Amino acid sequence: MMAKLAGSRFRWINEQLYTIKSDEALKLIQEQPELFEEYHEGFRSQVQSWPENPVDVFVNQIKIRATTRHVNAPGGLPGLANSRVVIADMGCGEAQLAQDVKKFMPSLKKKKIKIDVHSFDLKKANSFVTVADIKNVPLADASCTIVVFCLALMGTNFLDFIAEAYRLLAPRGELWIAEIKSRFSDEKGTEFIEALKSFGFFHKSTDDSNKMFTRFEFFKPPEDILAERRAKEDKKRKFVEKENKLEALETKRQKRPEGEWLLKPCIYKRR
Ligand code: SAH
Repeated sequence: MMAKLAGSRFRWINEQLYTIKSDEALKLIQEQPELFEEYHEGFRSQVQSWPENPVDVFVNQIKIRATTRHVNAPGGLPGLANSRVVIADMGCGEAQLAQDVKKFMPSLKKKKIKIDVHSFDLKKANSFVTVADIKNVPLADASCTIVVFCLALMGTNFLDFIAEAYRLLAPRGELWIAEIKSRFSDEKGTEFIEALKSFGFFHKSTDDSNKMFTRFEFFKPPEDILAERRAKEDKKRKFVEKENKLEALETKRQKRPEGEWLLKPCIYKRR
């Protein structure tokens, strides 16, 4: 019976987090921190039943690219001018990503690669985590080279998180996302990809080889490419009095938050 009760509490908290705005989620967890633990217990048991944990896939990507290529070289991890790789793990949960990266850092010593991981979530589960609503984290503009959302696009205003990722990333920085397959309105996640493109991101790849989740890579184009694109769009707009893509998207989300149509809430079934 206790297990059943815990299961239904987990489903309730999960549903809350998918159907309220992110500032309300922060308030909810600050007022009732025990909800976070209950949520994570349930979340962990869900993910354990999957063939693969998306965090492991991301960690593996970091490891492979760090060991086979130089930072900023083609195929290598993106780094700042000083070659430091700076990762922001948004909605990190218990910060597994930061902990796993820390574990394999010593093996990269010879390669002289430095990787910093900043981990953000609604609750400080451990010393790796900084408490923040991921629509607004305490890092400077262009200070990161990889921003990760691993199953973390939960608030109904999750496009604010995408705008925040854009702010955080340095040019050529990468946006890594894993989301549960059933959340997408179309099989390939096309509508989702298009929405992210209107924030300025370029789509790099989609990996849907996993049964439970789809993984996307985007990047922030360098300034010269952006300027060129903006000029083209302005020209077009002079002829047709039309909203640009981002304005159209903003109008749409003001009518109905994106958590209701662009990505559906992930509601777990009773087991
Ligand atoms: N990335 C981790 C945890 C995923 S669970 C993993 O894959 O293991 C989703 C996490 O996002 C939860 O820990 C939840 O608290 C967090 N989250 C949801 N909305 C958030 C917000 N607005 N700000 C910060 N964290 C948020």
